[in-house]
Amino acid sequence: MRIKAKCPVCTETVELTIHHLDRRQYCTKCGRMFKIPDADKLQKAIETAKQAGNSVIVDENGRIYG
Ligand SMILES: [Zn+2]
Repeated sequence: MRIKAKCPVCTETVELTIHHLDRRQYCTKCGRMFKIPDADKLQKAIETAKQAGNSVIVDENGRIYG
């Protein structure tokens, strides 16, 4: 199970660890700084990822992508 954040500019994904939550993160591709959703929003993503047995992608607003 993996959580990734999606860059709002170039849609590159950045893999997250617990240390990234509720912080700002630079996109590794375009350099844009964007916010990582907080743990509350990511809780839903984590549950979804567990059920899917796969990785999920979240954007800066906490929306979840498969
Ligand atoms: Zn980017």
